[in-house]
Amino acid sequence: MSLFENPSWQGHESIHKFYDSQTGLKAIIAIHSTALGPAGGGCRMWRYENEEDATRDALRLSRGMTYKNAMAGLPMGGGKAVILADPEKRPSDDFFRAFGRCVDKLGGSYITAEDVGMTVDNMRTIKQVTDFVAGLPSTQGSAGGDPSPWTADGIFLGIRAALQHRHGSASLDNLRVAVQGVGKVGYDLCRQLHAAGANLVISDVNEDNLRRAKADFGVQVVRPEQILFEDVDVLSPCALGAVLNAQSIPDIRASVIAGAANNQLATEQDGNRLFDRKILYAPDFVINAGGIISVSLEYDGGKTTTEVRAQIALIPERLSRIFATSDKQQDPTNVVADAMAESIVADAAAKHSH
Ligand code: NAD
Repeated sequence: MSLFENPSWQGHESIHKFYDSQTGLKAIIAIHSTALGPAGGGCRMWRYENEEDATRDALRLSRGMTYKNAMAGLPMGGGKAVILADPEKRPSDDFFRAFGRCVDKLGGSYITAEDVGMTVDNMRTIKQVTDFVAGLPSTQGSAGGDPSPWTADGIFLGIRAALQHRHGSASLDNLRVAVQGVGKVGYDLCRQLHAAGANLVISDVNEDNLRRAKADFGVQVVRPEQILFEDVDVLSPCALGAVLNAQSIPDIRASVIAGAANNQLATEQDGNRLFDRKILYAPDFVINAGGIISVSLEYDGGKTTTEVRAQIALIPERLSRIFATSDKQQDPTNVVADAMAESIVADAAAKHSH
């Protein structure tokens, strides 16, 4: 399929494909928008079946970053990198330096950081060859480091905002919460939910991650194909995208869906399906902005964790505004959130063109 006919190509500014013959690196960087600033978004390393899948992922994720950064009030546009490789094969430092040189060639129009399959150590290696990187180890009190715990903080606050809206109480005491995926974000979220008195049911395809969460929080474990349909108050997708779709939605029993995964809705129509079933959906790009807030403040320089925390504390208010508008207009929450983000980007683009 040619690029411009790809349905995931939606107003993107550019896409860049890189190959490094020395290390075998294959990477794609998609820049959706720089209207609000340099395109910020993590780098995902994944075993893609083929280049078409990787391209689609880069296009969809980079657009999501434009919306996420706009809604979070950050001075960043949206971009995303994907590396076509198996993270479990632990590529060499040369491989990550080759990726860093790709980022560097874009001259600062794209800023990279961690996403699925990438670590703080990888960012440190990338930093050897480019300055256009964040998510680096931080010193005490300054913004930086692994964004995942910050993402988990935002998800926890967002779950409480959704509960407040749906049930008039933000308490998690004795509520049942299903967490799909207990990796970096999911595990940290479980820690906070457990401390708040929630009863957890989890699933993962990674045995080590499952064992760790089970040992630390005494959670109930169910099979991966079961987790979405558990009889719970809250469902928190923290693994993969597109889990909310025409097949899954009719059987979901949670009344609130609020999780970290990007692109949880398979299609925009799935937002309508949730709305029709009166399931309150916290739009992913609004609730999962904690990590990029940390990345953005780190990249700005001289910012502290207190400032990161203060910005993450704004996530629940933003969600409450979306929920209230959704009720008032009788529009699904994803439609309301998309419209808000698009208006912020359009205003910025209009300022540039004057
Ligand atoms: P991660 O790779 O550390 O964790 C993902 C977990 O999901 C892993 O334990 C994996 O084994 C598990 N998983 C994969 N397939 C599964 C399945 N079918 N059923 C159940 N579990 C499955 O990634 P992460 O950093 O925790 O991110 C989780 C999600 O949140 C991703 O979609 C990511 O894009 C999104 N996100 C992460 C951040 C961040 O700061 N890390 C920020 C925003 C969004």
